[in-house]
Amino acid sequence: MQQRAVRAAPGESTFQDVGLGLLDGLCAAARLPPHRRRQALHTLEDMLAPWGSWSVGDQPRFPSDISDDHFPIEHSLAVSGNDIEIRVLLEAQAQIRQLSDFWAAGCALNALLARRYGADLQRFEQIAELFEPRAGARYAMWHAACFTERADPTFKLYINPQARGREHAPAIVAEALVRLGFSSEAVKVATALRPGGTLKFFALDLERGSNARVKVYYAHDGADRRRIEAELSRVPGFSAAALETFWNVIPNQDDPFVGLPVTTYLSFTEGDDRPTSGIVHFPVRDYADDDQEVRRRVMALLEGTERELYSRALSGFAKRPLEEGVGLQTYVAQRVGHGGRRVTVYLSPEGYRVAPPRAQSGIASRRASFESTLARLEFGGGVSTEGAARGEASRDMGGLVSRAPRAVLRPRSIEDLQIAVRACRHHGVPLVARGQGRTPFGQSQIEGGVVVDMGGLGSIHSISDRAVTVDAGVTWHSVLRATAPRGLAPPVLTAFQGLSVGGTLSIGGLSGTSYKRGAQVDHVLELEVVTGEGELVTCSPDANSDLFDMVRGGLGQCAVIARAKLALVPTPAWVRHVTRRYCSLPPFLSDMRELVARAELDGISGTFHLEAEGIRIELNAVSFMDAGAAPNMANLLRGLPDPAEQTTRDLERLAYYSEVDELVTRLQANSAWDQLARPWFDVFLPNSAVDDYLAQVLAELSASEDVGGPELGALGQLHLFPLLTQHLKSPLLRVPPGSLVHLFDILSCSRRPGDDAWSQRMLARNRRLFERARGDGGTRYNIAAVPFTSEDWKTQLGPRYDELRRLKQKLDPDNILNPGLEVFS
Ligand SMILES: Cc1cc2nc3c(=O)[nH]c(=O)nc-3n(C[C@H](O)[C@H](O)[C@H](O)COP(=O)(O)OP(=O)(O)OC[C@H]3O[C@@H](n4cnc5c(N)ncnc54)[C@H](O)[C@@H]3O)c2cc1C
Repeated sequence: MQQRAVRAAPGESTFQDVGLGLLDGLCAAARLPPHRRRQALHTLEDMLAPWGSWSVGDQPRFPSDISDDHFPIEHSLAVSGNDIEIRVLLEAQAQIRQLSDFWAAGCALNALLARRYGADLQRFEQIAELFEPRAGARYAMWHAACFTERADPTFKLYINPQARGREHAPAIVAEALVRLGFSSEAVKVATALRPGGTLKFFALDLERGSNARVKVYYAHDGADRRRIEAELSRVPGFSAAALETFWNVIPNQDDPFVGLPVTTYLSFTEGDDRPTSGIVHFPVRDYADDDQEVRRRVMALLEGTERELYSRALSGFAKRPLEEGVGLQTYVAQRVGHGGRRVTVYLSPEGYRVAPPRAQSGIASRRASFESTLARLEFGGGVSTEGAARGEASRDMGGLVSRAPRAVLRPRSIEDLQIAVRACRHHGVPLVARGQGRTPFGQSQIEGGVVVDMGGLGSIHSISDRAVTVDAGVTWHSVLRATAPRGLAPPVLTAFQGLSVGGTLSIGGLSGTSYKRGAQVDHVLELEVVTGEGELVTCSPDANSDLFDMVRGGLGQCAVIARAKLALVPTPAWVRHVTRRYCSLPPFLSDMRELVARAELDGISGTFHLEAEGIRIELNAVSFMDAGAAPNMANLLRGLPDPAEQTTRDLERLAYYSEVDELVTRLQANSAWDQLARPWFDVFLPNSAVDDYLAQVLAELSASEDVGGPELGALGQLHLFPLLTQHLKSPLLRVPPGSLVHLFDILSCSRRPGDDAWSQRMLARNRRLFERARGDGGTRYNIAAVPFTSEDWKTQLGPRYDELRRLKQKLDPDNILNPGLEVFS
């Protein structure tokens, strides 16, 4: 495609004006002798010649990766003692925006450098075809010229190991090194990549002789200093102590570094199996508020005369007050190994844009640069900023609230999860973990933040006779399918198995068996969690027990659950389910209390069917049994008055636990299902209040308004679960005082999609019923669609509120974990 005319009009700034002007300022400040200064300017003029006279314009024609604003030239200065070297890096421009044209422009520049300056192209020619970029590569070829007071200019060439795609980069680098005569040992060292490592550049000194280097550049996403040190430890004689000051003053923050990645290179010369030197490049502009701050840090790193050299050169280069922007100084680098310590500061001409200081633009600027971090995160399950994925994550099972995230991340490993959390923290972007998104009131949504889809963490790691260790994204369905063939199951399973382990452990997890077994959160042996600082911590009743207590039922406020070790118990293969029907509340409650007090049954619950003719009440008495060993139900139900009706059925245990799953699958087959609203109401009631409360509430509710249609079966009705509190041991599952309490659920469901007026009526009803319950000493079960303020949270959590706040401040100091719940705002 032909470009528009690019020749500069009189008065318009050209690339030559900018590139040469800044180089001249640097040379003057570095006090290069006049002949060297002239030589430097002539050389750069030559290198820019085919396009130097083009107008810079107000935006890049081709987005060069050489600088943040895509200006195709970068300057740098390297200081070591009294020595200073000034360099210019550039991307030869082409009239037509195709990589093949940029490659051709680069080759033309090579020829010019060989012709006029004696640059040696022999090694490039041996490997050129490996690096010729295919469509989709980010760049073709960059050139650098280096100027000192002692010698004629030297040149370096940078070519792209990812020219044929990222996955081919190690093979391309290996092949190039072999062609250049390096040993297999050198190839091994150069191409060894750790997780998060990427090959970025392959660089050649365009010189003859045994000192001519090949440099291999790497980027390290989310790396900490130990990882960078491990990379550089491939350089013989490397000592971590050499970088101590660098780490202390340049990043000015704890590692790991989750903004722009730290990069390194290893430099190889002919005949050496191991690198002769290496460098760490720190992208300081992503970790500092403004350039004055960067200057302060660089001054602290430099020694003696280096400070004056740098300070003068920076003044010669900067065309604006340093405190008025960030990004003039992009990287600070320190060399290790052969040649000794040398510090390089990379300088951006800011040809198109000055990034405002962070202190001024604050969180907005940090969040803006989050997009570029996201673009670089390449972990297994992917990063999606697509409308479809974001739309999906802005809905949940309730259909009541919709909060659009800016991205959905799907970690595949705990390390991915840590990187995601750290990236969010670095950029001040809130984050919420999402299991199956089955909570109905936005609990797994986040406006403008990141939804971490835990579905990618879906492995079952080990099963023993007593425990199963699973990733948090695994569903209970998968847990049961894996353990049941061994005659084992978790002690408590929810009615529906299509919920994630992390999701129910962040809420509670209750069922008919809970009356004498507690909640799912009471059967966790150990958790691996990632805190709001991205730290991986193991917690259990014996280790970090405070965290263990604040994570179970903690709605992801202090940490994201990554992995869980869950208790298993032997599980008989069959279930006998007796349903007793009642016409009124008092005999039902009386029988239920009697059965709970005996604690002989395996499961007890109640169901209220609101029907046009009135209320039908059922008591579900469940006993587990081995094949051929049926329980004596007559004995288990002894002494209870005859109910209005009683039925008995025997089911295989897996079939029993699949009933609601199958119902959900059937309902989902109807396309309207996902569009219905489900303002579920769930409260814990003290035993002393349950009779009056239920009598009042049941009298107020209507079959046509307050519950779902009859086709919804158990998912459109009201349920009561008795709970003996001696078995509820997780402090954040807040229940009323007393030895016996009850979970009361109203599973409301709209009759048609889009009935917002009905949803609003139901939310108002939920709040009203909640306040009445709270007046009776009740608490909310946190799956409920009951609007909550932070005052409500305070009341709900009671003495645990401050405990949770203290731990959150410690582990999530920037409040990035699920702030949408407004527990503390
Ligand atoms: C059909 C159906 C039947 C149900 N039956 C029962 C039942 O019998 N008993 C019962 O107690 N509940 C029941 N529930 C409610 C259910 O327990 C909760 O909705 C549960 O949290 C849903 O799991 P999820 O994977 O969908 O979690 P999500 O809705 O995705 O998440 C729930 C909350 O946990 C947080 N979270 C999710 N994963 C993590 C993690 N790894 N680390 C930290 N925080 C995390 C989320 O941020 C969110 O705040 C039922 C729900 C449905 C839809």
